[in-house]
Amino acid sequence: MKKNISIIGAGFSGLAAACYLAKDGYNVTIYEKHSQIGGRARTIEKDGFLFDMGPSWYWMPDVFERFFGDFGKKVSDYYELKRLSPGYRIYFSDEYLDVPASLEELYEVFEKHEKGSAAKLKQFLKEAEYKYNVGIHELVYKPGVNISELMDARLITGIFKLDVFKSIRKHIAKNFKNPKLVQLLEFPVLFLGALPQNTPALYSLMNYADLVLGTWYPMGGMAVVPEAMKKLALELGVKFETGVDVSAIELNGNLAKKLKAQKEYNGFDALISSADYHFTDQVLLPPTHRHYTKDYWESRKMAPSSILFYVGINKKLPNLLHHNLFFDEDFELHSQEIYTTPKWPSKPLLYVSCTSKTDPITAPEGYENLTILIPVAPGLNESEEIKEKYFNLAIERIEKKIGMSFKKNIIFKHIYSPKNFINDYNSFKGNAYGLANTLLQTAHLKPSIKSKKVKNLFYTGQLTVPGPGVPPSLISGKLVADQINNYFK
Ligand SMILES: Cc1cc2nc3c(=O)[nH]c(=O)nc-3n(C[C@H](O)[C@H](O)[C@H](O)COP(=O)(O)OP(=O)(O)OC[C@H]3O[C@@H](n4cnc5c(N)ncnc54)[C@H](O)[C@@H]3O)c2cc1C
Repeated sequence: MKKNISIIGAGFSGLAAACYLAKDGYNVTIYEKHSQIGGRARTIEKDGFLFDMGPSWYWMPDVFERFFGDFGKKVSDYYELKRLSPGYRIYFSDEYLDVPASLEELYEVFEKHEKGSAAKLKQFLKEAEYKYNVGIHELVYKPGVNISELMDARLITGIFKLDVFKSIRKHIAKNFKNPKLVQLLEFPVLFLGALPQNTPALYSLMNYADLVLGTWYPMGGMAVVPEAMKKLALELGVKFETGVDVSAIELNGNLAKKLKAQKEYNGFDALISSADYHFTDQVLLPPTHRHYTKDYWESRKMAPSSILFYVGINKKLPNLLHHNLFFDEDFELHSQEIYTTPKWPSKPLLYVSCTSKTDPITAPEGYENLTILIPVAPGLNESEEIKEKYFNLAIERIEKKIGMSFKKNIIFKHIYSPKNFINDYNSFKGNAYGLANTLLQTAHLKPSIKSKKVKNLFYTGQLTVPGPGVPPSLISGKLVADQINNYFK
């Protein structure tokens, strides 16, 4: 008889797990709190504007291709991808730099800023390619349940080539001196939620993803990806129950038996939670069956939270590209205010996404849609005044840098703050991207993919292996599906 699997949450990881398990012959039902699926990749649609609420950088297209390929499909069966060229713009205090899609042009940009750096970049990217191939196609597909998974001969002999013990900051500094090039190369580390000095140089694989594999955009916005996964899941027979806010997991001995929401759901043989790990462990489970202690969670290094502004503008802003990084303030100061002495930042760096540059359906003709993101420390107190202060700060900084005022042209505005992450996703301390990817929070040192106290409870998503980001969340769904298969063997 077919086994029944229940999954809490329809973000990337829950959707991926559902697809793999349905393909493997299980009856799968997903329970999602919101009416819209996609989790952090939901959308806001208002007054002709369409905003992606969360992820906006489509990197590592090979991981998405591999996901759909596992079901005999292609990405192009579901959505159209466009490579952005230039990939993005970085505003520094005195000039801006466009990061070209072409490697030849990129080498020229490097050489212009630092003599001899083009040759160094070639070598740097060659090493990064090796790390990408081993890291993304081998290491991250390990479930992190046992240290012996890392005792593979290729990994051991390659461990120094993989630069696990050196920081990426040192690795970059050894090769490049120009501060702008250094910042360009350190930027992808921000996706990992930790500082370059605390992130293993293994993650220069992100530079390969950025500069060689490129920045892509799925036409229609990032939310077309979870919609594609939902379509695939439905084709495979997965059932969706949306608007179900799970408030407890009820047990019988050491087995999960029921989900408590507005009503009760039972009849599953195994349960996967793709909701925030901390919430499942500390809130949905009774104290007797929690995998970790409160102190454990308090001692975790979380990735930052964010304050976001979704802004509709009734004119065009020619000096913006699709992706824009405002690195015109002190990176170290902002980092300290996130990680070392957590407080609202005094002079934050900003990120602005403007998908209307690429995709006409995301704003009315002649208008632009801006998503402005400021990373902030998790767990800060907030108020309406603080949110308005940062909104004004962001708009004024952007106006100044792009040399055009548009505050009076704002016809739509929506603010999304750390508190919204808590209310919407039960996110621990309002984290936006899960746990920081430090060496001590990598692989088997991450919260475990399977519960040690509830035999049929498993976890997936950005707080467990392999980590934060859309591609890792897809992989996480595959890893947990493998665990379920092992459980029923
Ligand atoms: C602002 C922002 C920008 C980002 N930018 C990028 C980017 O550019 N590129 C990139 O690759 N990654 C990016 N990320 C990270 C990426 O979006 C996440 O790592 C990924 O979406 C996490 O997927 P998930 O399935 O683990 O979790 P989620 O997306 O959080 O999914 C969990 C689901 O569980 C549901 N849920 C929670 N509690 C319950 C409950 N009690 N009952 C029922 N359902 C529940 C939630 O509603 C949610 O749908 C960004 C994230 C944010 C927030």
